[in-house]
Amino acid sequence: MALRKIVTLPNPVLKRKAHPVNRFDRDLQTLVDDMVETMREAPGVGLAAPQIGLAERVIVVEYYEREEDEENEDARKKVWAVINPEIVKASEETLLGVEGCLSIPGLLGEVERHAEVHVRGLNRHGKPMKIKARGWLARIFQHEIDHLNGILFPDRAVRVWQQKQEVEQEQEF
Ligand code: ZN
Repeated sequence: MALRKIVTLPNPVLKRKAHPVNRFDRDLQTLVDDMVETMREAPGVGLAAPQIGLAERVIVVEYYEREEDEENEDARKKVWAVINPEIVKASEETLLGVEGCLSIPGLLGEVERHAEVHVRGLNRHGKPMKIKARGWLARIFQHEIDHLNGILFPDRAVRVWQQKQEVEQEQEF
């Protein structure tokens, strides 16, 4: 495994639509492992392939599976790697939250997101998978899938501002 360099604005790869993945070979396994390592090192709770300079539809997420686990000291975060992810269902209910992005250091923004989404995609071996996410986990998936379409959080934010102190880990994805 190796750390990859996280690219930042104004790198044009961040504004491009990424390509679907159709080969589940050794290179993809290495990419997924490297993305998990890079996300943890950052540290952040999600990472999309364009953030390491690759216009491919691959995301990784590491967060609590259930909302109630955020308050549970014994709960552990779960890791998802999703290839060609798609939001197939989204709640009408939305939530405002403060997001940052590893590719836009120092900027925060308040973004309205669906409170619940169903994400469909393929796992790292090409098998179909479906994830039902609520709350912050749903926000992370929406943020990462936006990256695959060249959309960054300031494009959706109701307001943005520069943060002088360090940004919290859970706000970086
Ligand atoms: Zn981001």
